[in-house]
Amino acid sequence: MKEFAIIGLGRFGAAVAKTLYNMGYEVLGIDINEERVQEARDYTTHAVQVDAIDENSLKALGIRNFDVAIVGIGQDIQASILTTLILKEMGIEYVVSKAQNDLHGKVLYKTGADRVIFPERDMGVRVANNLTSTNILDYIELAPDYSIVEVTAPGFMVGKTLMELDLRAKYSINVVAIKSGKDINVAPVAEAEIQDGDILVAIGSNDKLKKIEER
Ligand code: ADP
Repeated sequence: MKEFAIIGLGRFGAAVAKTLYNMGYEVLGIDINEERVQEARDYTTHAVQVDAIDENSLKALGIRNFDVAIVGIGQDIQASILTTLILKEMGIEYVVSKAQNDLHGKVLYKTGADRVIFPERDMGVRVANNLTSTNILDYIELAPDYSIVEVTAPGFMVGKTLMELDLRAKYSINVVAIKSGKDINVAPVAEAEIQDGDILVAIGSNDKLKKIEER
């Protein structure tokens, strides 16, 4: 089971921590602010008051044993960059850092961040995508050109099995789950038949996903 350390429990860090904690993961929350730490006791496995740029304190917490660290420090750009650097130097495999702007993001990548999140920009893109496509209910960008989408099954798929549709060969798209009402069929077999109103969770390149949606 993966263990997560969240550094900086502002709106972003707290939301990440709560979600992971509710999913049953071990979550260590760290903030310099005592009040934030107190609040975090409700939604983390442990919450500690530490200045993240103090390398020795982080070491004492055994942070190097965590699989993933999320740096939710935003306003204090210097602290965000130094914390990212310290975590990478300690050997944490996957560090996700929040950026305030493009330049901050660039520096975070150069510092070693494995993924940089621009919460407002990313949400703006997401909202625009949701608003302009009639079938796409939600999507997650995996890489600039690849996404996972949740899409209402287009008419041409209804009554056909995954094998008949052959989406993998025709569009290089993989259907990873089919939702029918309250039921969800994860990793559906080739014989699974799409019903009217089903929601598909599919992974593929953005152009190919768009083609499916427009068909
Ligand atoms: P948000 O917009 O997500 O609320 P903020 O930048 O306002 O982001 O909040 C970041 C959090 O990070 C705050 O709770 C702040 O106390 C914390 N923080 C800032 N600097 C440090 C630091 N050096 N070490 C630990 N936590 C920090």
